Amino acid sequence: MNNKTNNIHPIFDRLLQREDREKRLGQKSKVLWLTGLSGSGKSTIAQALERKLYNEGFFAQVLDGDNIRAGINNNLGFSLEDRNENIRRISEIAKLYLNSGVITINSFVSPTIEIRNYAKQIVGASDFIEVFINTPLHICEQRDVKGLYKKARAGEIKNFTGIDSPYEAPTKPDLEVLTENQTVQESVQVIYDYLINIIKI
Ligand code: ADP
Repeated sequence: MNNKTNNIHPIFDRLLQREDREKRLGQKSKVLWLTGLSGSGKSTIAQALERKLYNEGFFAQVLDGDNIRAGINNNLGFSLEDRNENIRRISEIAKLYLNSGVITINSFVSPTIEIRNYAKQIVGASDFIEVFINTPLHICEQRDVKGLYKKARAGEIKNFTGIDSPYEAPTKPDLEVLTENQTVQESVQVIYDYLINIIKI
């Protein structure tokens, strides 16, 4: 048999596959989706986890409000329609990274079950890891990293998640991180320990 007749999928044979890229990077790619209230610790954990993965020889990229809302999504506001579009674009971007072999750590409040399902559907269920950064509201409010809770309580910000807009906790997250009595490093370690078996080749 010559090569031509052997070639059942000629196009796929020509194109580089996700698996090839994963092999080059020495990892399996996944989409980590960190959800939780504002101030729960998503960004802090995402950045520290990105650094830890890097130090351990993996290749990961944080996607968060800073690099997404400030750039590609800077034309979107906070209406329901824009929030959906925000998540749609983020999920599509995460999927591009996924197919290039890179692990993404997505840090977005993503307050409803519906919106997280939407993200999961775009990414693909088998590559989507939902991580619930579970920090009680009163702790987030105590931390008030960006002074947003104070403003929301004063009525200066409307529809703030946890105050006058609901947060629907995941019912079956792949992983739950209880940050209240943990250091950042401990929280990162919980995710790393879970992830390592999934991403190592
Ligand atoms: P989010 O991105 O969810 O809005 P941030 O990461 O911006 O939250 O803020 C979380 C705050 O909580 C930071 O000031 C961080 O130092 C603090 N913090 C205390 N303990 C933890 C922990 N175990 N994990 C993450 N953040 C923690």
